[in-house]
Amino acid sequence: MTKQALITGITGQDGSYLAELLLSKGYKVFGLRRRTSMPIMENIDHIKNEIEFIDGDLLDQGSLINAVRISNPDEVYNLAAQSFVATSWIQPVATGQATGIGVTNMLEAVRLVKPEARFYQASSSEMFGKVVETPQKETTPFYPRSPYGVAKVYGHWITVNYRESYNMYACSGILFNHESPRRGIEFVTRKVSDAVARIKLGLQNELRMGNLDAKRDWGFAGDYVKAMWLMLQQDKADDYVISTGETHTIEELVEVAFSHVGLNWRDYVVVDQKFVRPAEVDLLLGNCTKANEKLGWELEVGFEELVKMMVDSDLERLSK
Ligand code: NDP
Ligand code: GDP
Repeated sequence: MTKQALITGITGQDGSYLAELLLSKGYKVFGLRRRTSMPIMENIDHIKNEIEFIDGDLLDQGSLINAVRISNPDEVYNLAAQSFVATSWIQPVATGQATGIGVTNMLEAVRLVKPEARFYQASSSEMFGKVVETPQKETTPFYPRSPYGVAKVYGHWITVNYRESYNMYACSGILFNHESPRRGIEFVTRKVSDAVARIKLGLQNELRMGNLDAKRDWGFAGDYVKAMWLMLQQDKADDYVISTGETHTIEELVEVAFSHVGLNWRDYVVVDQKFVRPAEVDLLLGNCTKANEKLGWELEVGFEELVKMMVDSDLERLSK
């Protein structure tokens, strides 16, 4: 029997890679899409005819109930969120509603219409924030450092709570930063790859950035969506950290990206206080031994390969 999946956040980075993965496995894929004045289809343009779109919004409970009814899913992947940390200080309430309460809205829709559907929640390493141990694993206590991180902690615990209260198959993937040529342009990796390509092509002459000392554990989104799928194929629902086990500074990121096109980053990067955050997450480094051992999940793309892939992709896009 063909499996059916409902993906929220289908237009985003992860939604697009996950849709590709599920289509390649023969799933019928439904995507929750919110109304925008201009459709944002760049990430999924190549597969849009294979997806059945359902209009809805995480803030509109009825639309989610409707989406679960129409899609009759075996699996629900809740990827939608206000996902940019910096914006969460400017729009803390909207972030709390979409990234936090939105999870309960989605869980309620599943509980009411199809409680046997398997549910994936997109939790985040930002929940570890001001880290209390390194590396961070499933049992590491949370200490979020932004309205985004706080909302994700709520989304995480409500998912655990629905599993324990209603015996639903609900999993939380605690994913460390993952990137790709489809990453939103405001995130640091993509901001850098886009700027490096523009500088190389003579379209821009400097790159203004915030804190270069922060450290992140960056992986490739295409590898990480495989872990989401694996989490929903187990005998028992559980939570898993997904990471590379390597951490790099923003300065190292910039260095790899500029040197890939034969430039010295020090000639172009300017630190601008505008991009420094009110509270910083200084260090993220994940331990994903549990996912390696229980899910058999393995990483394929490493840090340098990822950065070069993103720079090459932006060079190709901007050269056209
Ligand atoms: P994106 O920002 O690329 O995508 C977010 C998606 O959510 C978009 O499709 C967006 O739609 C949708 N969305 C936002 N608000 C609503 C709403 N109110 N109702 C319905 N849809 C909405 O994020 P990513 O793909 O990078 O990340 C996917 C998930 O994983 C997010 O929850 C993110 O917080 C989480 N995460 C991501 C990590 C990463 O490194 N990428 C790390 C850990 C967790 P639209 O196109 O209309 O804006
Ligand atoms: P996050 O880990 O989800 O917040 O992902 P981001 O890619 O937005 O940021 C990663 C890190 O890069 C954070 O520590 C930021 O403070 C740091 N950073 C430094 N300069 C910039 C910048 O210009 N833009 C962004 N987005 N982040 C920056």
